[in-house]
Amino acid sequence: MKYQRIVVKLGTSVLTGGSDRLNRAQMVELVRQMAHLHNNGCEIVLCTSGAIAAGRERLNYPTLDDSMASKQMLAAVGQSQLIQTWENLFNIYGLHVGQMLLTRADLDDRERYLNARDMLETLLKHKIIPIINENDAVATNEIKVGDNDNLSALMVGLADADLLLLLTDQAGLYDANPRTNSDAKLISEVDVIDDELRKIAGDSGTSLGTGGMATKLQAAQLARRSGAAVIIAAGQQSDVIIDICNDERIGTRFNPSENPLESRKRWLLAGPGPVGSIRLDKGASKAVIEKGSSLLAKGIVAIEGRFDRGDMVILHNEVGAEIARGLTRYNSDDLLRIKGQHSQKIEEILGYAYGKVVVHRNNLVIK
Ligand code: GLU
Repeated sequence: MKYQRIVVKLGTSVLTGGSDRLNRAQMVELVRQMAHLHNNGCEIVLCTSGAIAAGRERLNYPTLDDSMASKQMLAAVGQSQLIQTWENLFNIYGLHVGQMLLTRADLDDRERYLNARDMLETLLKHKIIPIINENDAVATNEIKVGDNDNLSALMVGLADADLLLLLTDQAGLYDANPRTNSDAKLISEVDVIDDELRKIAGDSGTSLGTGGMATKLQAAQLARRSGAAVIIAAGQQSDVIIDICNDERIGTRFNPSENPLESRKRWLLAGPGPVGSIRLDKGASKAVIEKGSSLLAKGIVAIEGRFDRGDMVILHNEVGAEIARGLTRYNSDDLLRIKGQHSQKIEEILGYAYGKVVVHRNNLVIK
């Protein structure tokens, strides 16, 4: 088997087959494949969507307003249906499942992130299939990852998986929208995710799920940088999961980054959202990118936004392009006073100092 540990993400469109209810025949078919791989020594983490769709089905398609509370209600009802369905289906193959419902808040905090990681490892060690979804019933927009493409990519970092399999209702990423353009060609392999590719991916969401190709590209980038290969393929294709694990060329494959990030940096990339930004001069930008240096006050030319010590900030280069992000040791008020100054002068200016560097290289990840 080519892969040891894979995260399989199943979108709502795969689970419902485009209908308004869970397609149990399709689900059992996917479970059969995952059970086969599991029994052949491959560890599977399942990231499932479909809670809201299942809730609608269970409540017999109620007419609801578009509020957060209505969606949370559907998710609360639907998630229990969804997990019950998975539990029953995996049980056919004698396998147990364990449910983990997460929000961004569980991943932002380093300690909670590490707890989630331990929990995932424990499930896998006991041969239990972890089933992950966003905790939609309690998550508000502010604390949501927002889509399961990105959530599954975060799971790749958390589980240190070597493959992320994004199964959807399309055969992969095309060079034009296949729904509207019959000449569209499947892109079979991607080494670099650049702006051109992002443009191609455009916005091609389905009506039931949250993600489209755009969120799949974000997810692919995150997972690649964690050292995993990523494949987007059609969930309906027969034996798709097994064939991919046997290294058959199916769908669109994104090759893993050649220099994967170590664990803490993965968390930095995945976790806390930035709350402000710091603009660097040319010398500091170069030192951060090329030499992997820490950021010193001296190289700072401007501060944007208000942030606290320990917050995530974006580092912009001299022309305003994002080059990195990292955790700052000084809050924005302090930085306004010490920017451009030598490290030795920090204490004199502020009356205290939290050390010579503003963003330490260990707390910084290059874009
Ligand atoms: N968490 C959502 C659900 O279970 C799905 C989000 C997504 O499809 O990306 O309904």
